[in-house]
Amino acid sequence: MEIDDLVRMLAKLEGKSYSLYRKLRNATIIYRNFKLKLTKIQGDPHAEPSIVEVLIPSSSHRFSSKFFKEKNVTPFTDYISRSLHSICKKHSERCGSGNSCYIGIPKPGPWILRRSSVEVGENKSLTLRFYVGLPARGRRILGSEAANIFHKKVPSIVKGIMLLREKSDEIMDHIVNYLDQEYLRSWIKSKGYMFFIGNGSILPRESSISQKPLKNAVKFLSPKTLSVKVKLPSNRVVEGLAIPKGVLIITGGGYHGKTTLLKAIQEGIYDHIRGDGRELVVSSEKTVTVKAEDGRIIHHVNISSFIRKLPSGELTVDFSSLNASGSTSMAASITEALEAGVELILFDEDTSATNLLYKDEAMVKIISEEPIVPLVNQLRSIVKKTYTGIVGVISASSIPLYIADHIILMEKYMPYDITENVKKKLRNKQLATLDFKPPQPRIFAGIRGFKKAKARGFKITITYSNGGKFELNIKDNPRIVEKGQVKTIAYIINYLCRRQIRKSVPELIEYINDVLSKGFTTLAKPIPPDLTMVNGLDVIWVLNRVLNAIFTK
Ligand code: ADP
Ligand code: MG
Repeated sequence: MEIDDLVRMLAKLEGKSYSLYRKLRNATIIYRNFKLKLTKIQGDPHAEPSIVEVLIPSSSHRFSSKFFKEKNVTPFTDYISRSLHSICKKHSERCGSGNSCYIGIPKPGPWILRRSSVEVGENKSLTLRFYVGLPARGRRILGSEAANIFHKKVPSIVKGIMLLREKSDEIMDHIVNYLDQEYLRSWIKSKGYMFFIGNGSILPRESSISQKPLKNAVKFLSPKTLSVKVKLPSNRVVEGLAIPKGVLIITGGGYHGKTTLLKAIQEGIYDHIRGDGRELVVSSEKTVTVKAEDGRIIHHVNISSFIRKLPSGELTVDFSSLNASGSTSMAASITEALEAGVELILFDEDTSATNLLYKDEAMVKIISEEPIVPLVNQLRSIVKKTYTGIVGVISASSIPLYIADHIILMEKYMPYDITENVKKKLRNKQLATLDFKPPQPRIFAGIRGFKKAKARGFKITITYSNGGKFELNIKDNPRIVEKGQVKTIAYIINYLCRRQIRKSVPELIEYINDVLSKGFTTLAKPIPPDLTMVNGLDVIWVLNRVLNAIFTK
């Protein structure tokens, strides 16, 4: 229908029961230079707001066609998404009850990512998705307020987006910043480096609940011995720290910036917006931090390389638990990471099961009944056999230093290369290096009794057909940065389970990445405006911890 028809219809609905908004479900409203579809109508004013999808043909938005080139789409839509968030915010109001008159999408964080709020479509068209709280007082429709939203506010929001074409230079700058980081990521891989941290980077955040850079932070400066220079596509030459694939140990006194450095390396899986401070911090997108997770679920993981046999006599080649210990949980997480084919594993002594990491000579003699084979003794073999890089933060034991390729000392937030010095001191000592046996990948075969997966904030709840529920906090996965990613994971779990997808773990990751590469449209109907891109690795991370997930040989 035309917008004028909608306005007339809303006038008739004034004061009527809220449920009559249902009539608008899937209605397409034709505006002068774009179309709007109401893909979801909320059931009452307090429920999650309704969803609108705006389709703008290229003849209307007239954005330069260069923005629609494959390699530019992510930063372009990310830019539009940020603007959409702030434009909606200006038009959002409170009226009547519940979410009435709310217009908006979640605020994108400092990561340049694909989000369902803005997607490009066929023939360089642009799709915007956002929430609209259909207005009511009590359960009575506020028709005039609704008419105002669709007649005045929506066209004004769309116009605001179209006017961004006048900010071509700013958009191009956002794209160039992204392309430099993408280039750096492929460059470190081609050179065999584990990560790159540019000089001048700001690694610490303002606080644990803020993503803003810490003010007056000590800027990162690479030690000369480990410093490399690289020319970026933008023609800028940057210098920074790059460590060849192998074992890197970061050490130093408490509160000297070790964990901050490790977290920055984990963040390097994403590209950051200008001003974030981490624009030149880049690692493989297949980087994962492993830690001890007391109480986690484990499904049929072969942890025998780390834990030979339990006191109960139970073998560990096919280990499952509904309540794992620190060491078994970390052994499982390392094994799962290797099974998934990650390229870089990070760990921090602070959050590890230290008995899994290393064991000193005296303790080896004292404890004779020890099923644990320390990780550190196997690191050389892990790197060699799986070609996975390792970065560990350790300062309570010197044992890991024997097998490290590189050792960085953090002192007052500055990194120092102490590799040569330490190696000289340790010259006469050696550490028994043990063979690591890479496990066979398991096959994921669904979730027993699965009904549905739903995200709320950073949590995912799985509901089973017997009415049971299981909740998992995804904040524990350091790769996850936005709530929208958690929602995407829930959508993918529904997608996989409804289609009864059955694949080996590495194949499943590839399959999920392939589905996601086609955008959000294939995932479900309707598409909410608050999905953020994830990697298949993050879905597996969740499945590995879900009650009743089926993994077989
Ligand atoms: P560690 O792991 O060595 O104990 P952290 O990395 O946790 O130390 O850092 C300790 C504190 O120092 C944190 O509050 C962090 O924000 C701050 N910090 C880290 N790096 C810097 C820096 N480059 N400049 C200023 N403060 C920093
Ligand atoms: Mg620390």
